[in-house]
Amino acid sequence: MTADERGVTPQGEDFSAWYNELVIKAELVDHGPARGTMVIRPYGYRLWELLQSDLDRRIKETGHENAYFPLLIPQSYLQREAEHVEGFAPELAVVTHAGGKQLEEPLIVRPTSETVIGEFMAKWISSHRDLPMLLNQWANVVRWELRPRMFLRTTEFLWQEGHTAHADEADAMRETTLALDAIYARTARELAAMPVVEGEKTPGERFAGAVRTLTIEAMMRDGRALQAGTSHYMGTNFARAFGIQYTGRDGERSYAHTTSWGMSTRIIGGVIMTHGDDKGLVLPPRLAPYQVVIVPVGRGGAEVAAAAAALARRLADAGIRAHVDDRPQFSPGFKFNDWELRGVPARLELGPRDLAGGTAVLAMRLGGAKEPIPRDGAPARLADELDAFQDFLLARATAFRDARTVTTDEWDDFTTAVAAGWARALHCGTQDCEQQIKAATGATARCIPREADQESGTCIRCGLPAAYGKRVIFGRAY
Ligand SMILES: [Zn+2]
Repeated sequence: MTADERGVTPQGEDFSAWYNELVIKAELVDHGPARGTMVIRPYGYRLWELLQSDLDRRIKETGHENAYFPLLIPQSYLQREAEHVEGFAPELAVVTHAGGKQLEEPLIVRPTSETVIGEFMAKWISSHRDLPMLLNQWANVVRWELRPRMFLRTTEFLWQEGHTAHADEADAMRETTLALDAIYARTARELAAMPVVEGEKTPGERFAGAVRTLTIEAMMRDGRALQAGTSHYMGTNFARAFGIQYTGRDGERSYAHTTSWGMSTRIIGGVIMTHGDDKGLVLPPRLAPYQVVIVPVGRGGAEVAAAAAALARRLADAGIRAHVDDRPQFSPGFKFNDWELRGVPARLELGPRDLAGGTAVLAMRLGGAKEPIPRDGAPARLADELDAFQDFLLARATAFRDARTVTTDEWDDFTTAVAAGWARALHCGTQDCEQQIKAATGATARCIPREADQESGTCIRCGLPAAYGKRVIFGRAY
């Protein structure tokens, strides 16, 4: 392949083509055989594992335990919660035949597991002493996608789903907020360098069956919003549907209040679209499968190869994920382009001239001049560079988002703002009006941000008195 064939369409020319080409060329994924499915290749899966292990640690540190529930759910379970079944019906994959004959009751391939987990919570919870019950499941789910997009909307995807049961609303809302803040927002900011906005969904954008839905929203480099994680307070809706009841200290039977929350492989799409550029991926160091790639250059032969391997070992000993690209069939120039496309934060070039001098040449993914550095000091220097790179990505994405977020009370400004980014505007809170805004501009209510001043006034679209007491963020979304 030539360098041109490895390249991707520039973002400014066609952002969507840029994304679709990049996920394939960077060897993150391939198209699966069934509609909308994706094969996650080792490079993409390592990225997911790094996210997953960070999330899993936070999930456990906040008191949750992992469990596993079956992939196949009796159809009748889904029918017990009316809003839930209505919301998911169009996306369900249903197993009607198995073992060579028609099943008496069709089985649903789980789109999410509130129902089956609700059934077992009802069995396992009997007293207030059994509460709160704090469960998490790592699993794949299936939601039939008509317009699939790698990572963002795939028929099958990987995620974790937290499911908890509590004695009352206050405790359940504490949990709903905890999952959003202590788990999702922190993973997004600290690992993915995504400056997410934490807020609440408007009633029209809530999860099917939820009383309240909290969300983290991120802005992509085309100005669109990506919902990167959600946390739902279900009230007693699922407890009533599945009979999750407990006996209180006073001997009274009450329904539990439940929550659910999920983050999925979709966030990888968010990382790509938050940081990537015309050369390809730009990976935050904490998520990069390889943080440093060492490329032997010149005609150094075995001596350079040995020095490269030794350098990689020293970096690895310092906790840095280093990789030596010793593929003999490719030129150094090809390798530089390849690792830039694949988003590796730092590159070290090592040639015959570096051997005697004890140096290597450092080049960072986001430009700056190449610089010879002493190999002895490489672990400490790279650790500093990677930290700075991680911080820079978060700062750059924050500045980008803020520059494309417009606070406005004028409809014309609103339409201009959501064409390029986000608008912060007052809204009446009716779903009809949200639908009109969507029809006119393509923008939806992303969230009512938690950190916002109290404001009152009239709706940006219809002029009715504003709801929520604060501005709503509107934007076009993935
Ligand atoms: Zn309105």
